Amino acid sequence: MRKFPELSPRYIDPHPSPKGTAYTDGQYLPVSEAKISVLDYGFLHSDATYDVVHVWKGAFFRLDAHIDRFFQGLEKLHMSIPYNKEQVAEILHNVVALSGLENAYVEFICTRGNAPDFSRDPRNAINRFIAFAIPFGSVANPEQLERGLHIAITDVVRIPPPSVDPTIKNYHWLDLVRGLYDAYERGAETALLLDSEGNIAEGPGFNIFIIKDGAIATPDHGILQGITRQTIFDLCQQLQLTCTARRITPVELENADEVFITSTAGGVMPVTKANGNAIGSGIPGPVSQRIKDLYWAMHDSDAWRSPVTYPDH
Ligand SMILES: *Cc1c(COP(=O)(O)O)cnc(C)c1O
Repeated sequence: MRKFPELSPRYIDPHPSPKGTAYTDGQYLPVSEAKISVLDYGFLHSDATYDVVHVWKGAFFRLDAHIDRFFQGLEKLHMSIPYNKEQVAEILHNVVALSGLENAYVEFICTRGNAPDFSRDPRNAINRFIAFAIPFGSVANPEQLERGLHIAITDVVRIPPPSVDPTIKNYHWLDLVRGLYDAYERGAETALLLDSEGNIAEGPGFNIFIIKDGAIATPDHGILQGITRQTIFDLCQQLQLTCTARRITPVELENADEVFITSTAGGVMPVTKANGNAIGSGIPGPVSQRIKDLYWAMHDSDAWRSPVTYPDH
């Protein structure tokens, strides 16, 4: 007689995860216990949108901007969740408060969800909202933040806007992951991808800026419009620095005086090598450094903070 494996009553994850708190299907739970169905189209088709906001010294930074971008993505993807913006903000506050984290990376997601009978019609799926808070993480590690990242300008073309609208934050990451492996093979630490015309687009979860003769520029096309990118525009206006969104060629980037990348995960991060060659003097430049300092100083301003109320420890 054939012996069958025993059916487990519930799934126990053998893989480690960071500490943190999640919200899914109406329940708050340790992030290690948060699961989605294998039949969720967010997983099977990358049919999902998401956003990432951070908490720094016990307060969210530019929370409203992240929630607005998320709701715009929902609308463009014909998704809906049973919460309005205030209720989403409340859930995000709760996951952070329950996690006890003063510096947190907070991700919130809407997946297409499961469809009864595994229908291929996305209109039949019930969308799922998930949120979690884990310790704050950065694109660059402390050493890279100090000496600047080494980047490779790859030949990989970012998925073009007529295929996937890049202004919707999404999980179509196979091009970005391919870029990362290309970069590692060439001895670099992270990657830049091109747009379909061969101009610089963006990297895995970050936007890019160049500085030449005091003028700052960033790509205008084929990119996710980062909230950190927007913060740089705001800072430049305050500092009366010129900051333009336009096409940027790989050659222009290699010949820039300074380069930095921006992301909620890490803020403003200097780049000091491109394709193995030093950018400018090869050390993080003064303008990038000033912008980085001001970016972190903004975190103390009430205009941009939403403080979290934590349970008594
Ligand atoms: C999230 C993300 C960014 C950076 O956006 P921020 O809002 O500044 O964090 C840039 N590019 C892509 C592809 C992203 O997913």
